[in-house]
Amino acid sequence: AKSTGANMACFYDISMDAASRERNALAIDMRAGFLRNEFELFFQRQNSTRTGAVIGFEVLIRWRHPVRGLVPPSEFIPIAERTGFILELGDWVLQKACEEAVKWKRPFKIAVNVAPKQLANVSLPARVAEVLEQTGLPAERLELEITESGIIGDQQHALQLIRQLKALGVKIAMDDYGTGYSSLSTLQLFPFDKIKIDRGFIDGVVSNRQSAAIVRSTLILASSLDIPVLAEGVENEEHLEFLRSEGCEEVQGYLYGKPQPISELAELVNGSDLV
Ligand code: C2E
Ligand code: CA
Ligand code: CA
Ligand code: CA
Repeated sequence: AKSTGANMACFYDISMDAASRERNALAIDMRAGFLRNEFELFFQRQNSTRTGAVIGFEVLIRWRHPVRGLVPPSEFIPIAERTGFILELGDWVLQKACEEAVKWKRPFKIAVNVAPKQLANVSLPARVAEVLEQTGLPAERLELEITESGIIGDQQHALQLIRQLKALGVKIAMDDYGTGYSSLSTLQLFPFDKIKIDRGFIDGVVSNRQSAAIVRSTLILASSLDIPVLAEGVENEEHLEFLRSEGCEEVQGYLYGKPQPISELAELVNGSDLV
């Protein structure tokens, strides 16, 4: 029998499984939490394999929920993507990260994640330009990390946006390299300034021949394209040694440091010591 809209909505509601109810609750909570200032930025250092020195930080968002505790981005970013809230959240991350970095005495680079929905927005380059101007952060200190899923839709549109962003002087990194469908053709089409190899591959470089082969060939390919590579998820000396010996320039991972609140990094970003 046909139902009215109202009945449908009601029926739909009670049939929702626990997981979707939980997602709905989080989606509603997220907006409220944002207004209550529960989100904060963590910073994870990125180091040179050659000198060991810190060269920059990736900015990673955290949600300090009054009841749930620290909610990992893996739980709320996908929901924010679906609801579109990521546009507001991503904009906030960009602004806060630039405001923070410009205060540091040492001019480290910051890498900010840009979600596919943000990249689909034609006003992104103008917004980035505005944030740079308002905060005074030099464009070359800002790197935007984009994933392949952010550019598989309308490639021409994405390419145009990336060109506009690069024209501002901002750097563009390809994030999670190796996890998409067509990483090779993506590399050919888009003018990336950096490739970040996904930590799923780094995990196996010393124990798994396939992972080692993939990482090694990525490094060779990137080097012949003249694109520097950063490896994520570097957790121990074995990972670092492998990457260094294969010519990887930069690393990020628990070996050098976990993502941290800026209060814990004050000395590093303002001091003169090369920790
Ligand atoms: P991602 O961009 O690939 O970020 C790297 C993730 O790897 C971070 O997880 C980081 O904490 C984790 N990680 C770093 N080093 C190691 C390591 O040595 N071992 C292991 N096991 N993990 C390591 P996190 O902070 O939980 O973020 C997860 C994902 O959430 C990010 O993956 C990114 O896709 C997304 N995300 C985080 N912040 C933002 C944001 O501001 N905007 C957007 N759009 N996405 C974000
Ligand atoms: Ca990233
Ligand atoms: Ca990544
Ligand atoms: Ca990843």
